[in-house]
Amino acid sequence: MVTMRVAFFGGTFDPIHRGHLRLASAAADAFALDRVLFAPVGNQPLKAKLPAASFADRLEMTRLALSSTTGNLQPATCSFLVSTLDAPRPDGQPNYTVDTLAALAREYPAADLFVLTGADSFLTMRKWRSPDRLLALAEWIVVSRPEFPLAQAQLAELALAPGQLARVHLLATVQEDVSATELRRRLQAGDPCPGLLSPAVAAYIQAHHLYR
Ligand code: ATP
Repeated sequence: MVTMRVAFFGGTFDPIHRGHLRLASAAADAFALDRVLFAPVGNQPLKAKLPAASFADRLEMTRLALSSTTGNLQPATCSFLVSTLDAPRPDGQPNYTVDTLAALAREYPAADLFVLTGADSFLTMRKWRSPDRLLALAEWIVVSRPEFPLAQAQLAELALAPGQLARVHLLATVQEDVSATELRRRLQAGDPCPGLLSPAVAAYIQAHHLYR
């Protein structure tokens, strides 16, 4: 039996944009992923600012981006799915990725598990809760992002053991110069950001008066 290859892709997705979709698409192609779970985070412990949009709106925009036939970038051999695995916790505690990955492993006990992340985010992983356990629970696919150098030199700063390094895969083919911060700024200035947002997401933002 062939083992299913499942990737967890967490983020604020405030809003989901072309950079996120390109990252997932490139990773799915390069690592033969069967499934990518896009999981908007409820309460990210390391981000000082609260998201601009509610969890419900970010979840719905993610769902719209993935179900839209225009620009969802899903390869034919992979399913892009929205996941509530990182939804706000009933006890109000932050969502720690280590807990989320343990839940993922319970949900997919027989799968090969991966985490997708941009270079900027992965390079902060020493500040995350239980870094060693994070690398034990899944293999990591770290994707390039303009202005965040991604090479062995940067990885060396994380001081990973050889066995851990073997579980980190670099994918340097993505060069999407877009961030949610910049998009929110442009949306507030009245620019609908065509090409960077899926049309269904742009329509949702307008209908719900988000990022004004
Ligand atoms: P913000 O500007 O609000 O911080 P963001 O655009 O960085 O948001 P997040 O939702 O925080 O988006 O990112 C989720 C994941 O996607 C992170 O791992 C991040 O590194 C990665 N990512 C976001 N944008 C890009 C991009 N343009 N290229 C590569 N990776 C990206």
